[in-house]
Amino acid sequence: MYFRRHKPHNRAMEWWSSDPRIAIRRAGDPARGSCVVYWMQRAQRAFENPALEAAIRAANELRLPVVVFFGLLRTHPVANLRHYIFLVEGLVDTARRLKHRGIGVAIRAVAGGGSARTFVKFCADVNAAMAVTDENPLRHSARWRKDTARFLRVPLLSVDADVIVPSVLLEREQYAARTIRPKIHALLPNYLKPVRNASPLVAWKPSAQAASLEPSMHLLRMVKVDRSVPVVSGIHGGTTRGLAALRRFVGRRLKGYASQRNRPELDATSQLSPYLHFGHLGPHTVAIAVMNADAPARDRAAFLEEVIVRRELAINFVRYNRDYDRLQGCEPWALKTLAAHARDRRSYLHTYRQLERAQTHDPLWNAAQTQMVRNGWMHGYLRMYWAKKILEWSRSPAEAFRTALRLNDRFELDGRDPNGFAGIAWAVGGKHDRAWGPQRPIYGMIRYMSLQNTSRKFNSKAYIARWAAD
Ligand SMILES: Cc1cc2nc3c(=O)[nH]c(=O)nc-3n(C[C@H](O)[C@H](O)[C@H](O)COP(=O)(O)OP(=O)(O)OC[C@H]3O[C@@H](n4cnc5c(N)ncnc54)[C@H](O)[C@@H]3O)c2cc1C
Repeated sequence: MYFRRHKPHNRAMEWWSSDPRIAIRRAGDPARGSCVVYWMQRAQRAFENPALEAAIRAANELRLPVVVFFGLLRTHPVANLRHYIFLVEGLVDTARRLKHRGIGVAIRAVAGGGSARTFVKFCADVNAAMAVTDENPLRHSARWRKDTARFLRVPLLSVDADVIVPSVLLEREQYAARTIRPKIHALLPNYLKPVRNASPLVAWKPSAQAASLEPSMHLLRMVKVDRSVPVVSGIHGGTTRGLAALRRFVGRRLKGYASQRNRPELDATSQLSPYLHFGHLGPHTVAIAVMNADAPARDRAAFLEEVIVRRELAINFVRYNRDYDRLQGCEPWALKTLAAHARDRRSYLHTYRQLERAQTHDPLWNAAQTQMVRNGWMHGYLRMYWAKKILEWSRSPAEAFRTALRLNDRFELDGRDPNGFAGIAWAVGGKHDRAWGPQRPIYGMIRYMSLQNTSRKFNSKAYIARWAAD
């Protein structure tokens, strides 16, 4: 198919370059082509997804259909079966919603290193006029985008779909919540708006070139992943499930969130993090539901602080700090104080195996670890305590960082997320925090949490009884 008129394409070029959510990774003229391809990566949803909407908008300007490409990694260095089940459940739901909207879906099993090449080949097979993808600040994904832009012959746009304030507007790494908060709040009126679910003008017609793997749970047979971690029951992936969880939270637990969110025995938080991590829900959907809820202003504000300010601070950290997954990414004052205490005597040294099996001397820590292993989710208040104790019981802060990350990413359904890198950097290396006196063994000036104090702040006996390891 040959694209005849130039005016709509010029109009499209104008909005690409004027919207800060959109980065032009590869420029060029989408004058020829049969479709617009959207490479769905982090924003794995067909609902209120700004990247999909950008693809539809471009396709409508060009009078072309949209097809979504999804590369299912055959193997993964960290993710295991519990993550893959959640992901594929989401994919099945998303594929159903896409088909309903007249949008094509092509799922391909890919090797991690070959993702960009497979995508570029797909674009050639379907004669793409242009391609769109979504941003993910993690290193490997940034590399895929770079490789794709190098080899693709048509324009490539990437859309920052999983933040409310486009992360490019913050320009550099922000020091702490107190420095990013005023910047985010100043920009929110421009960006905290409902995302449309526009209709494509031209429906996709299935073709041999875009043949897809069947979006079903059988996809799990295609992957060769670690099956040693128990599968989580009672939580399922997908936008439909995520929206139901959001409705339950807003209807029943948002009221009281500000005062009860740090009480792990109550399950007072949203537990939406796995849906946000896999992009089954977007932050706009969650934030707007909470803003419009019939709950006290104090509770709504406390939740919005977490899902907007804290979450986007974590994304800012990963986007602008190249050492986001190691101790070196923390501030010089923190590295200095940890180094000064590196040789302090450790009262307990627990091996990785003991930690993984929740076999430490600390019943609260063991309960938190057990919650994570069984449920794929640990309460946020205990994540802080849990990681700080790993610092206390490891031979060095760098080893503690690695151990915490390994356990977190292996067992949390929401693992491998910017929030995890920032949370561990906060707990072990004082990231986004300040120095706390007096100096303590091992911690130096890093904020300390004791078993006694932490246990007093909530009904720790009830929590331990619930999660006591068998
Ligand atoms: C050591 C440590 C490790 C962590 N690992 C992860 C992780 O792997 N993945 C992950 O998503 N979060 C992680 N967090 C951040 C936070 O603990 C979880 O996002 C939160 O507990 C998830 O539960 P929820 O959805 O019920 O949160 P809610 O209290 O209901 O908050 C709603 C949403 O706001 C965001 N949010 C809440 N707290 C934070 C925070 N402190 N920082 C950034 N965003 C936040 C999350 O997206 C969350 O889903 C970690 C924190 C620490 C201290």
